Amino acid sequence: MNKEAVMAADAAHYMPVFNRYPIVLERGEGCTVYDADGKAYLDFLAGIAVNALGHAHPALVRAIADQAGKMIHCSNLFYTAVQAKLATRLAALSGLDRVFLANSGAEANEGAIKLARKWGQAKQPGKGRVVSALHSFHGRTLATLMATGQPKYQAGFDPLPTGFSYVPYGDLAALKAQMGADVCAVLLEPIQGEGGVHVPAPGYLAEVKALCEAHGALLIFDEIQTGVGRTGKMFAFEHEGIKPDIVTLAKGLAGGVPIGAFLAAEEVAKAFSAGDHGSTFGGNPLASAAALAVLDVIEAQSLLAQADKMGRYFSEKLQGLANEFPALVKEVRGRGLLLGMELTKEGRGIVLDCMAQGVIINCTAGNVLRFVPPLIVTETEIDRVITVLAEVFRRQ
Ligand SMILES: *Cc1c(COP(=O)(O)O)cnc(C)c1O
Repeated sequence: MNKEAVMAADAAHYMPVFNRYPIVLERGEGCTVYDADGKAYLDFLAGIAVNALGHAHPALVRAIADQAGKMIHCSNLFYTAVQAKLATRLAALSGLDRVFLANSGAEANEGAIKLARKWGQAKQPGKGRVVSALHSFHGRTLATLMATGQPKYQAGFDPLPTGFSYVPYGDLAALKAQMGADVCAVLLEPIQGEGGVHVPAPGYLAEVKALCEAHGALLIFDEIQTGVGRTGKMFAFEHEGIKPDIVTLAKGLAGGVPIGAFLAAEEVAKAFSAGDHGSTFGGNPLASAAALAVLDVIEAQSLLAQADKMGRYFSEKLQGLANEFPALVKEVRGRGLLLGMELTKEGRGIVLDCMAQGVIINCTAGNVLRFVPPLIVTETEIDRVITVLAEVFRRQ
């Protein structure tokens, strides 16, 4: 199938929900992907913060192949050693006690919301409201698009689930005003990703935690984008010296094999009993083996320190560009390898020009260029992206 045939088949038969870039990708290696014509691109989007180890990482490929050769799936009616190992590992890394494995970020959040409501209802009938932030992103299922504080994602899907309210991100007074006995949880991203790479002021998340404690509500961190090393620590909440009651993961966790997870403290997790939640595929041996391989490589190759170091380097270089192009760049934000550059105009043209020059980035919230390269990215690769960005910016 040539490029035109692929695009025509998609146009004819795929649900028309994606605004895709005109590139047909075929394979990848490290931080580079290749299209059907063999053109190389530096991949600083990494499947939207998913390919934590880059493409075709030998250790991940081997773990997947080995596991596929033994058993891909067996249902959660049986125990498997790989799933038990992954649960043990995630509990140890997070300091939380219990894990549930799902297949996506939205499913992880959906499960977390169910757990928080079950926990709340046991405390007091009606304690089921979830407070989240404006400009947040928590997924596309009916409950998670209600948790998502962006009305554009909810439009047209009535009747919508109830029991959600919203506050401006970073605004403690607004959150305080929303707290009440009926609130079972506050759900926040430690850094807003899709919403435009918004980093809260130091101390905000710790104050939110204190507010939750004062009102008998749970704190849920959606670390689907920030987790698994993206910000230079395994979990972004570690930067704040606090621990949530529930944390959700997905994107980078299995390096591209579909997975989601929610983790909770024992006193919360015990609100669930047999039959309260489930999943056919969730945490199957293939996905569990892939996640274990990702965690092994992060540890063996010190990728947390690497993400921190490369993030600082990249952020400095982006700031240099911001200084060079003050009319085009408003601000550089982010932490580790979750970086955003807010422009004074729409970013799609710049993204397309970068792609023509062999660099894949994307734009979120209309005018925020987002950089989420694999955690294995090198200085040389960052330098190349900075050179291309400078060329593209000069043409603006
Ligand atoms: C991507 C993302 C989700 C949704 O994950 P899916 O796997 O697409 O369902 C939820 N929350 C955050 C913070 C995300 O970045």
